[in-house]
Amino acid sequence: MRKKSLSIIAVTLAAVMMLTACGNYSTKTEQVTESSAETEASEEVIVASETESEESESVETASTEAASTEESSTEEVSTEAASTEESSTEEASTEASTEETIVTGGHIVVIDPGHQLKGDSTKEPNGPGSSTMKARVTGGTRGTTTGVSEYVLTLDIGLQLRDELESRGYTVYMTREVHEVNISNKERAEFATAKNADIVVRIHANGAESSSTNGALALAPSSSNPYVSNLASSSQSLSKAVLNAYCEATGMKNLGVQANDTMTGINWCTMPVTIIEMGFMTNARDDANMQDATYQSKMVQGIANGIDAYFGE
Ligand SMILES: [Zn+2]
Repeated sequence: MRKKSLSIIAVTLAAVMMLTACGNYSTKTEQVTESSAETEASEEVIVASETESEESESVETASTEAASTEESSTEEVSTEAASTEESSTEEASTEASTEETIVTGGHIVVIDPGHQLKGDSTKEPNGPGSSTMKARVTGGTRGTTTGVSEYVLTLDIGLQLRDELESRGYTVYMTREVHEVNISNKERAEFATAKNADIVVRIHANGAESSSTNGALALAPSSSNPYVSNLASSSQSLSKAVLNAYCEATGMKNLGVQANDTMTGINWCTMPVTIIEMGFMTNARDDANMQDATYQSKMVQGIANGIDAYFGE
Protein backbone atom coordinates (compact mmCIF):
# COMPACT_ATOMS: atom_id res chain seq x y z
CA MET A 1 0.00 0.00 0.00
CA ARG A 2 2.74 2.32 0.83
CA LYS A 3 4.73 1.14 -2.12
CA LYS A 4 1.69 1.58 -4.35
CA SER A 5 1.11 5.10 -3.05
CA LEU A 6 4.70 5.97 -3.66
CA SER A 7 4.64 4.60 -7.18
CA ILE A 8 1.42 6.53 -7.91
CA ILE A 9 3.07 9.67 -6.62
CA ALA A 10 6.15 8.91 -8.69
CA VAL A 11 4.07 8.31 -11.82
CA THR A 12 2.06 11.43 -11.15
CA LEU A 13 5.20 13.47 -10.58
CA ALA A 14 6.73 12.06 -13.74
CA ALA A 15 3.58 12.80 -15.65
CA VAL A 16 3.47 16.34 -14.32
CA MET A 17 7.13 16.85 -15.14
CA MET A 18 6.63 15.49 -18.64
CA LEU A 19 3.60 17.63 -19.17
CA THR A 20 5.38 20.64 -17.83
CA ALA A 21 8.37 19.91 -20.00
CA CYS A 22 6.22 19.30 -23.03
CA GLY A 23 4.22 22.40 -22.28
CA ASN A 24 7.33 24.52 -21.98
CA TYR A 25 8.80 23.08 -25.12
CA SER A 26 5.68 23.52 -27.09
CA THR A 27 5.24 27.06 -25.79
CA LYS A 28 8.81 27.96 -26.74
CA THR A 29 8.34 26.52 -30.20
CA GLU A 30 5.18 28.49 -30.66
CA GLN A 31 6.85 31.65 -29.48
CA VAL A 32 9.71 31.20 -31.92
CA THR A 33 7.32 30.41 -34.72
CA GLU A 34 5.19 33.39 -33.89
CA SER A 35 8.07 35.80 -33.62
CA SER A 36 9.60 34.63 -36.89
CA ALA A 37 6.20 34.88 -38.47
CA GLU A 38 5.86 38.40 -37.14
CA THR A 39 9.31 39.32 -38.44
CA GLU A 40 8.54 37.88 -41.80
CA ALA A 41 5.25 39.69 -41.83
CA SER A 42 6.93 42.96 -40.87
CA GLU A 43 9.58 42.49 -43.52
CA GLU A 44 6.96 41.73 -46.05
CA VAL A 45 5.17 44.89 -45.09
CA ILE A 46 8.39 46.90 -45.35
CA VAL A 47 9.18 45.33 -48.67
CA ALA A 48 5.69 45.97 -49.81
CA SER A 49 5.84 49.60 -48.75
CA GLU A 50 9.24 50.03 -50.39
CA THR A 51 7.88 48.51 -53.55
CA GLU A 52 4.97 50.85 -53.36
CA SER A 53 7.13 53.90 -52.82
CA GLU A 54 9.47 52.83 -55.61
CA GLU A 55 6.55 52.36 -57.86
CA SER A 56 5.10 55.72 -57.00
CA GLU A 57 8.50 57.35 -57.45
CA SER A 58 8.93 55.56 -60.72
CA VAL A 59 5.59 56.75 -61.81
CA GLU A 60 6.40 60.28 -60.72
CA THR A 61 9.79 60.17 -62.41
CA ALA A 62 8.28 58.76 -65.54
CA SER A 63 5.60 61.40 -65.62
CA THR A 64 8.13 64.17 -64.84
CA GLU A 65 10.41 62.92 -67.57
CA ALA A 66 7.55 62.65 -69.92
CA ALA A 67 6.49 66.18 -69.07
CA SER A 68 10.00 67.64 -69.30
CA THR A 69 10.75 65.75 -72.47
CA GLU A 70 7.60 67.12 -73.95
CA GLU A 71 8.48 70.60 -72.76
CA SER A 72 12.05 70.53 -74.04
CA SER A 73 10.95 68.90 -77.23
CA THR A 74 8.43 71.64 -77.68
CA GLU A 75 11.05 74.27 -76.84
CA GLU A 76 13.57 72.72 -79.22
CA VAL A 77 11.03 72.47 -81.93
CA SER A 78 9.80 76.02 -81.46
CA THR A 79 13.38 77.35 -81.15
CA GLU A 80 14.46 75.48 -84.25
CA ALA A 81 11.36 76.61 -86.06
CA ALA A 82 11.89 80.23 -85.06
CA SER A 83 15.66 80.31 -85.46
CA THR A 84 17.63 80.79 -88.62
CA GLU A 85 20.54 78.66 -89.76
CA GLU A 86 22.88 81.08 -88.02
CA SER A 87 21.27 80.40 -84.64
CA SER A 88 21.60 76.67 -85.15
CA THR A 89 25.26 77.11 -85.95
CA GLU A 90 25.71 79.20 -82.84
CA GLU A 91 24.09 76.51 -80.69
CA ALA A 92 26.37 73.88 -82.18
CA SER A 93 29.39 76.12 -81.64
CA THR A 94 28.50 76.68 -78.01
CA GLU A 95 28.27 72.94 -77.42
CA ALA A 96 31.63 72.37 -79.06
CA SER A 97 33.08 75.19 -76.98
CA THR A 98 32.12 73.51 -73.73
CA GLU A 99 33.75 70.26 -74.78
CA GLU A 100 36.89 71.86 -76.14
CA THR A 101 37.51 74.00 -73.07
CA ILE A 102 38.81 70.95 -71.27
CA VAL A 103 41.02 69.91 -74.16
CA THR A 104 42.69 73.23 -74.89
CA GLY A 105 42.84 74.56 -71.35
CA GLY A 106 41.42 77.92 -72.49
CA HIS A 107 44.59 79.35 -74.00
CA ILE A 108 44.58 83.05 -74.85
CA VAL A 109 45.03 83.89 -78.50
CA VAL A 110 45.45 87.36 -79.95
CA ILE A 111 44.48 87.64 -83.59
CA ASP A 112 45.94 90.57 -85.47
CA PRO A 113 44.18 91.18 -88.79
CA GLY A 114 46.93 92.89 -90.77
CA HIS A 115 46.76 96.54 -91.84
CA GLN A 116 43.78 98.91 -91.65
CA LEU A 117 41.73 101.23 -93.86
CA LYS A 118 44.58 103.75 -94.21
CA GLY A 119 48.28 103.21 -93.61
CA ASP A 120 50.21 105.48 -91.27
CA SER A 121 53.69 106.38 -92.48
CA THR A 122 54.61 107.96 -89.16
CA LYS A 123 57.66 106.15 -87.81
CA GLU A 124 58.15 103.93 -84.78
CA PRO A 125 61.16 101.90 -83.54
CA ASN A 126 61.57 98.52 -85.26
CA GLY A 127 62.20 96.89 -81.88
CA PRO A 128 62.76 97.76 -78.21
CA GLY A 129 65.72 100.17 -78.01
CA SER A 130 66.17 100.13 -81.80
CA SER A 131 67.31 103.23 -83.69
CA THR A 132 65.80 101.75 -86.88
CA MET A 133 62.49 103.44 -87.56
CA LYS A 134 59.70 102.00 -89.69
CA ALA A 135 56.22 103.10 -90.72
CA ARG A 136 53.67 102.49 -87.95
CA VAL A 137 51.47 100.51 -90.29
CA THR A 138 51.54 100.09 -94.07
CA GLY A 139 48.62 99.99 -96.50
CA GLY A 140 49.00 96.35 -97.51
CA THR A 141 48.43 94.74 -100.88
CA ARG A 142 45.32 94.31 -103.02
CA GLY A 143 43.69 91.55 -105.02
CA THR A 144 44.57 92.02 -108.68
CA THR A 145 41.62 89.88 -109.79
CA THR A 146 39.01 90.61 -107.14
CA GLY A 147 40.03 94.17 -106.29
CA VAL A 148 39.65 93.36 -102.59
CA SER A 149 42.11 95.10 -100.26
CA GLU A 150 44.34 93.04 -97.96
CA TYR A 151 42.97 94.73 -94.83
CA VAL A 152 39.45 93.60 -95.82
CA LEU A 153 40.53 89.99 -96.37
CA THR A 154 42.58 89.85 -93.15
CA LEU A 155 39.67 91.08 -91.01
CA ASP A 156 37.24 88.81 -92.84
CA ILE A 157 39.37 85.76 -92.01
CA GLY A 158 40.31 87.13 -88.58
CA LEU A 159 36.70 87.41 -87.45
CA GLN A 160 35.86 83.93 -88.73
CA LEU A 161 38.97 82.58 -86.98
CA ARG A 162 37.92 84.29 -83.75
CA ASP A 163 34.55 82.54 -83.85
CA GLU A 164 36.13 79.19 -84.67
CA LEU A 165 38.73 79.44 -81.90
CA GLU A 166 36.12 80.53 -79.37
CA SER A 167 34.01 77.54 -80.35
CA ARG A 168 37.07 75.40 -79.61
CA GLY A 169 37.39 76.90 -76.12
CA TYR A 170 40.06 79.55 -76.67
CA THR A 171 39.90 83.04 -75.26
CA VAL A 172 40.39 85.35 -78.21
CA TYR A 173 41.21 89.06 -78.45
CA MET A 174 41.26 90.97 -81.72
CA THR A 175 43.64 93.88 -82.24
CA ARG A 176 40.90 95.31 -84.45
CA GLU A 177 37.33 94.43 -85.44
CA VAL A 178 36.74 97.32 -87.82
CA HIS A 179 38.73 98.91 -90.64
CA GLU A 180 38.77 102.50 -89.42
CA VAL A 181 41.43 102.28 -86.73
CA ASN A 182 45.00 103.46 -86.38
CA ILE A 183 46.96 100.86 -84.47
CA SER A 184 50.67 100.55 -85.17
CA ASN A 185 52.48 97.23 -85.38
CA LYS A 186 54.28 98.02 -82.11
CA GLU A 187 50.94 98.79 -80.47
CA ARG A 188 49.47 95.51 -81.78
CA ALA A 189 52.30 93.60 -80.09
CA GLU A 190 51.83 95.59 -76.88
CA PHE A 191 48.10 94.82 -77.03
CA ALA A 192 48.93 91.11 -76.91
CA THR A 193 51.18 91.63 -73.89
CA ALA A 194 48.43 93.58 -72.13
CA LYS A 195 46.01 90.72 -72.82
CA ASN A 196 48.47 88.18 -71.39
CA ALA A 197 48.22 86.24 -74.67
CA ASP A 198 49.80 82.82 -75.04
CA ILE A 199 50.32 83.36 -78.77
CA VAL A 200 49.82 86.02 -81.43
CA VAL A 201 48.55 85.05 -84.87
CA ARG A 202 49.03 87.82 -87.40
CA ILE A 203 46.88 87.44 -90.49
CA HIS A 204 48.27 88.73 -93.79
CA ALA A 205 48.22 88.07 -97.53
CA ASN A 206 51.08 88.47 -99.93
CA GLY A 207 51.86 90.42 -103.08
CA ALA A 208 54.56 89.87 -105.68
CA GLU A 209 55.87 91.38 -108.91
CA SER A 210 55.09 88.19 -110.80
CA SER A 211 51.42 87.21 -111.05
CA SER A 212 52.47 83.57 -111.25
CA THR A 213 53.92 83.61 -107.72
CA ASN A 214 51.47 81.75 -105.50
CA GLY A 215 51.20 79.87 -102.23
CA ALA A 216 51.28 80.43 -98.49
CA LEU A 217 54.16 81.01 -96.11
CA ALA A 218 54.70 81.92 -92.48
CA LEU A 219 57.17 84.33 -90.87
CA ALA A 220 58.90 83.81 -87.53
CA PRO A 221 61.90 85.40 -85.78
CA SER A 222 65.29 83.68 -86.07
CA SER A 223 67.49 82.60 -83.17
CA SER A 224 69.74 85.60 -83.94
CA ASN A 225 66.91 88.14 -83.67
CA PRO A 226 68.29 91.00 -81.50
CA TYR A 227 64.98 91.44 -79.62
CA VAL A 228 63.10 88.14 -79.41
CA SER A 229 65.66 85.38 -79.93
CA ASN A 230 64.12 83.73 -76.86
CA LEU A 231 60.88 83.37 -78.82
CA ALA A 232 62.49 82.00 -82.00
CA SER A 233 62.04 78.31 -81.32
CA SER A 234 58.45 78.54 -80.07
CA SER A 235 57.49 81.00 -82.82
CA GLN A 236 58.93 78.69 -85.47
CA SER A 237 57.00 75.75 -84.01
CA LEU A 238 53.82 77.81 -84.03
CA SER A 239 54.47 79.00 -87.59
CA LYS A 240 55.15 75.49 -88.83
CA ALA A 241 52.04 74.06 -87.14
CA VAL A 242 49.77 76.79 -88.49
CA LEU A 243 51.21 76.84 -92.01
CA ASN A 244 51.19 73.06 -92.44
CA ALA A 245 47.62 72.69 -91.18
CA TYR A 246 46.54 75.65 -93.31
CA CYS A 247 48.03 74.19 -96.51
CA GLU A 248 46.65 70.76 -95.67
CA ALA A 249 43.12 72.15 -95.24
CA THR A 250 43.16 74.43 -98.30
CA GLY A 251 45.51 72.71 -100.73
CA MET A 252 47.46 75.96 -100.97
CA LYS A 253 51.07 75.55 -102.08
CA ASN A 254 53.33 75.42 -99.00
CA LEU A 255 56.26 77.86 -99.32
CA GLY A 256 57.54 77.06 -95.83
CA VAL A 257 58.40 79.02 -92.70
CA GLN A 258 60.76 81.93 -93.31
CA ALA A 259 62.91 83.63 -90.69
CA ASN A 260 62.29 87.36 -90.47
CA ASP A 261 63.84 89.78 -88.00
CA THR A 262 62.67 93.05 -89.56
CA MET A 263 58.99 92.97 -88.60
CA THR A 264 58.12 95.53 -85.92
CA GLY A 265 55.03 93.53 -84.95
CA ILE A 266 57.24 90.50 -84.24
CA ASN A 267 60.14 92.33 -82.59
CA TRP A 268 57.96 93.91 -79.92
CA CYS A 269 56.26 90.63 -79.03
CA THR A 270 56.64 88.99 -75.65
CA MET A 271 55.08 85.63 -76.58
CA PRO A 272 55.30 83.19 -79.53
CA VAL A 273 54.17 84.89 -82.72
CA THR A 274 53.52 83.93 -86.32
CA ILE A 275 52.64 85.87 -89.43
CA ILE A 276 50.62 83.73 -91.80
CA GLU A 277 50.80 85.00 -95.37
CA MET A 278 47.71 83.15 -96.57
CA GLY A 279 48.32 83.45 -100.31
CA PHE A 280 49.27 85.88 -103.06
CA MET A 281 46.62 88.47 -103.87
CA THR A 282 48.62 89.19 -107.01
CA ASN A 283 47.95 85.66 -108.24
CA ALA A 284 44.56 85.20 -109.93
CA ARG A 285 43.85 81.76 -108.48
CA ASP A 286 44.99 82.53 -104.91
CA ASP A 287 43.10 85.82 -104.99
CA ALA A 288 39.85 84.24 -106.22
CA ASN A 289 40.17 81.29 -103.84
CA MET A 290 40.66 83.59 -100.84
CA GLN A 291 37.35 85.34 -101.65
CA ASP A 292 35.40 82.08 -101.96
CA ALA A 293 33.23 81.36 -98.91
CA THR A 294 33.83 77.60 -98.95
CA TYR A 295 37.55 78.10 -99.40
CA GLN A 296 37.59 80.67 -96.59
CA SER A 297 36.07 78.19 -94.17
CA LYS A 298 38.87 75.77 -95.06
CA MET A 299 41.41 78.53 -94.42
CA VAL A 300 39.90 79.19 -91.00
CA GLN A 301 39.68 75.50 -90.10
CA GLY A 302 43.28 75.03 -91.19
CA ILE A 303 44.65 77.87 -89.05
CA ALA A 304 42.59 76.72 -86.06
CA ASN A 305 43.81 73.14 -86.54
CA GLY A 306 47.37 74.44 -86.57
CA ILE A 307 46.83 76.32 -83.31
CA ASP A 308 45.33 73.19 -81.78
CA ALA A 309 48.36 71.22 -82.98
CA TYR A 310 50.77 73.79 -81.52
CA PHE A 311 49.20 73.60 -78.06
CA GLY A 312 48.90 69.84 -78.36
CA GLU A 313 52.66 69.42 -78.83
ZN1 LIG B 1 50.26 92.40 -95.01
